[in-house]
Amino acid sequence: MLLFIFLVNTPISYIKSNALSDIQIKVEKSEQLFSSNLNILQSYLNLAQTPLALNYAQDPEAFNTLASALMSGQTYLKSAVIQPVEQMSNLGMFVELIEGHNDHASLHRLTQPIYDDQTVVGELQLEIESHMFVSYLYDGMFIMSDTGFVHWSQYHDIISNAYLSDDYSEVLSQIHRINRRNGVIDLGRQTVVFQVTSDLLGEKTYLVHLVTNAEIVPTHIYVTFVLAVLLMVLTNVFIGTKRKKKALEQISYIDELSTLNNRHYLNHIESSLLKRDHYFIAIIDIDHFKRVNDSFGHAIGDKVIREVANTIKSSIRAHDYAFRLGGEEFAVVIKTKDIAVACNVVERVRISVEQQSNNPKVTISAGIAPVIRNIKDSLGVADQFLYVAKRSGRNQVRSVPKCC
Ligand code: GH3
Ligand code: MG
Ligand code: MG
Repeated sequence: MLLFIFLVNTPISYIKSNALSDIQIKVEKSEQLFSSNLNILQSYLNLAQTPLALNYAQDPEAFNTLASALMSGQTYLKSAVIQPVEQMSNLGMFVELIEGHNDHASLHRLTQPIYDDQTVVGELQLEIESHMFVSYLYDGMFIMSDTGFVHWSQYHDIISNAYLSDDYSEVLSQIHRINRRNGVIDLGRQTVVFQVTSDLLGEKTYLVHLVTNAEIVPTHIYVTFVLAVLLMVLTNVFIGTKRKKKALEQISYIDELSTLNNRHYLNHIESSLLKRDHYFIAIIDIDHFKRVNDSFGHAIGDKVIREVANTIKSSIRAHDYAFRLGGEEFAVVIKTKDIAVACNVVERVRISVEQQSNNPKVTISAGIAPVIRNIKDSLGVADQFLYVAKRSGRNQVRSVPKCC
């Protein structure tokens, strides 16, 4: 289960952190555009400090020429006028929304007092298309002051020119809590990516991007990962079970001491052997093995069994089979129609054991019979010939007709 969670979460966290850094980059870019445009507007407002504005009453033409030059090639600056002191709006920057709210076609009025020495003599008023302020905001972004007043919003559930509703109060409190110029805050269902931007109306202001977790890592990616990992785990379990079953089968067909196949395997392949070809079967028995155990101990007896098994394995041909039937008894199934060939194979085994065994030196005796109806009967006949070989002095191979 832990592995499952790990396998799903690792790539998902990677995707999530990539998506979040993309969002942070988007927020940074939007903030830069927003802030540089505010600076441009501020520089327009600084016209209020120029002699053109101060001398407006005497020479309106000079200011109006400059104003129309400013507006040409602009889409968002709708008007730049100077009002005498009695018609001043007396409001600060950006506060006056002229038509409707959250309507991109509406206007914002920006104002700046005109001073003659210390006395206010009038006001410069700029009317700006409101959409200009939101054109830098992507879906889900909004501009909010430190007091929670949202100036412009492109987030579907947050309205412009209003205080943040209680549903989103945590956004502001968390931004206050971490008290940094930018950051990413995980609110559980949503994530807040924010960046401090230029002050508006003298208040600290943030550009905020509110994203749902599904936007960061789309649900279908989650589902795909969970399914892929589930499939991987199930496949592994399935393969593992199959492997285990095969391994168990192999163990039950293999004799542990000699690593030859055992009697079960001989029974298992019996029907296919009988169907396929002509075979002879030989029973091979180590001579006087009891003496080996008695004289050298059981461990050496085991070593002799292993060595004889190896000699049998290396003396038979690729299409013959070797088995340990039990104790110091082996069987060899020899693929041939010809008893002389079978005799040769078993005789080769006998000579190899005689020549290769050492410390203690051992010999084997064997009886051979054709495989006719079934293995059991053939083994019975081969056993009779083995008995003959033993009685005749051991270290020999017997069959009918007699082997070499
Ligand atoms: P023969 O030449 O007539 O075959 O004489 P033998 O002594 O080989 O025959 P017998 O059947 O009397 O003895 C076989 C011995 O093999 C008896 C038993 O203790 C021993 N034996 C059987 N299985 C094992 C085994 O796995 N390891 C060892 N070390 N000895 C075994
Ligand atoms: Mg025996
Ligand atoms: Mg024996």
